[in-house]
Amino acid sequence: LRSPYSGGHLEVIVGPMFSGKSEELIRRVTRALIARQRVAVFKPALDDRYHVTQVASHAGRTTEAVAVPSAASIRAHLSGQGELLSAQPEGVDVVGIDEAQFFGPDLVPLVLELADAGVRVILAGLDLDFRAEPFGPVPELLARAESVEKLTAICTVCGAPATRSQRLIGGQPARFGDPVLLVGAQESYEARCRVHHEVRR
Ligand code: ADP
Repeated sequence: LRSPYSGGHLEVIVGPMFSGKSEELIRRVTRALIARQRVAVFKPALDDRYHVTQVASHAGRTTEAVAVPSAASIRAHLSGQGELLSAQPEGVDVVGIDEAQFFGPDLVPLVLELADAGVRVILAGLDLDFRAEPFGPVPELLARAESVEKLTAICTVCGAPATRSQRLIGGQPARFGDPVLLVGAQESYEARCRVHHEVRR
């Protein structure tokens, strides 16, 4: 696959929900597979178990992925300790990671190490949380990346480019202090522009 970078490097794809981050990650990964490169795609697991799954876009495109509980388990898989990728003992050319915002700060040294070792790393994730505050390790990853693509969705209120994810709880804008995970709540998300994004104080 032709790339403007001669060796390993870091590509980051960000934007709000529905901006096409997963679509873009799947597009890049699919092209690498067509070029017969060895690709491993990861995403955060909701529980603490590894399993083979998919990265899926809202429009329905998918690519195979491994769900992992932590950045450390990505490292374990790639170094051959995991069972799922042991079919690729010589390593990988491309590592894709979706929902990068949900990994902790130890995602940063891992992806830098991979890039330094010659791997093309493609990350997709939310740059901002529902309060429009920088999300987890993503700000530092943006700073350290060779390539950054910032995508927009369509604002559900006015149709302008949306840069933010509106969180609604029971149809009402979420409060700044609401916990990120609400058990049993009626919650949903919409893409919104700066003008129509609302956070209750
Ligand atoms: P992300 O990974 O950024 O959440 P996806 O790649 O999963 O985005 O989904 C993007 C797709 O979502 C678009 O191609 C479109 O079909 C659909 N979509 C639904 N709502 C919107 C919206 N408000 N703005 C843009 N695309 C939307």
